[in-house]
Amino acid sequence: MTTTTRTERTVLDDARDQLAEAVKILGLPADVHAMLAEPRRELSVSIPLRRDDGSIEVLRGYRVQHNYSRGPGKGGVRFDDAVDLDEVRALAMWMTWKCALLDVPYGGAKGGVRIDPRRYSIAELERVTRRYTSEIAPIIGPEIDIPAPDIGTDERTMAWMMDTYSVGRGHTVLGVVTGKPIALGGSQGRAAATSRGVVAVSLEVLHHLGIRPEGATAAVQGFGKVGRGAARFLAEEGLRVVAVSDVDGAISHPDGLDLPALEAYVDETGSVVGFPGSSPISGEEVLAAEVDLLVPAAVEGVIHAGNAEAVRARVIVEGANGPLSADADRILGERGVLVVPDILANAGGVVVSYFEWVQANQSYWWTEAEVNEKLVDRMTHAWRDVLVYATERHLSLRLAATCMAVERVWRAHEVRGLYP
Ligand code: GLU
Repeated sequence: MTTTTRTERTVLDDARDQLAEAVKILGLPADVHAMLAEPRRELSVSIPLRRDDGSIEVLRGYRVQHNYSRGPGKGGVRFDDAVDLDEVRALAMWMTWKCALLDVPYGGAKGGVRIDPRRYSIAELERVTRRYTSEIAPIIGPEIDIPAPDIGTDERTMAWMMDTYSVGRGHTVLGVVTGKPIALGGSQGRAAATSRGVVAVSLEVLHHLGIRPEGATAAVQGFGKVGRGAARFLAEEGLRVVAVSDVDGAISHPDGLDLPALEAYVDETGSVVGFPGSSPISGEEVLAAEVDLLVPAAVEGVIHAGNAEAVRARVIVEGANGPLSADADRILGERGVLVVPDILANAGGVVVSYFEWVQANQSYWWTEAEVNEKLVDRMTHAWRDVLVYATERHLSLRLAATCMAVERVWRAHEVRGLYP
């Protein structure tokens, strides 16, 4: 049999297979499976963009609401040139499970625009964001669907989205997006929340395996919103971060990279490449680093059938959404590598998004210490619940987490009943 690669199978195939496996274990009937597999609502929009030179380019954007049985849709907006409808569908489904698993009262949604943001000016990105927001405005809102940042978007994007939506409504609507700047109703601790959550779970896993964080080794793939903070917090906990990468390249240092100095270097140069005292390595070498902990924190499908055998980490904590293909998941599972799935590991972002939305709805703001304490508490409890569920039923952590989430969503469906 030939091995499959990411080019043959899509992330949506993987997401659907995970659901099918969970449905089978839970013993849910076929009609329930069919309802949970289908996105409830999808919008595909054309985004005409006036470039700075006066020409017009037509972009494509999407918003998919996979499920809203437990509450409003929730999930990020991605600006990336690989965005397509199937990817957004998969990411929306994962958001449904993530929100259910962490027990935040949301369904799952995701949005995206097919664009490479690095090739556009800030003024152009603002126009894209505003037009995209106005196109999807009929299906978003604090009680309908609440976007947030994802790859290629940030708090500035959220401020533009919130402003565009509010202008259309005639009043300021803080709760329509999360991940906003602090000056505009953003939450303390939101920017670092995903990274903090990744590290909270990583510490729990190391403890579970009897590995002391002090002196344990880690590799982090991706040095953006998630990877950079994760590397910093891991180093603060005493781990040696021996290898990191970003889109431009990768570096290593056997004694552990000096994270504060590396962050200052990245702020200055825009990349980890060339960091004084480090050795240049390939991106694949980061994934194959001989470490206790590997955190893939960039994009989907980076570990696949072609390179899973090369992974030498004892534990993988998925900072990104879907960094392991289904094949890689199986190969690593058979080899006994412990994989903490994305819907648990990177849920810190949406947990603090929830806190931001609660604060916006109450107009009452918490301190950063309060936010961080509540975040770590939620993450560690979710980790423990998933571990118990997996151990009792002899399931992988991913399957356990998916089963727990699917069951919660199904319960909500069941008690609501089918209309009409
Ligand atoms: N984009 C993040 C994720 O994939 C955050 C979503 C949110 O805060 O709504 O979980």
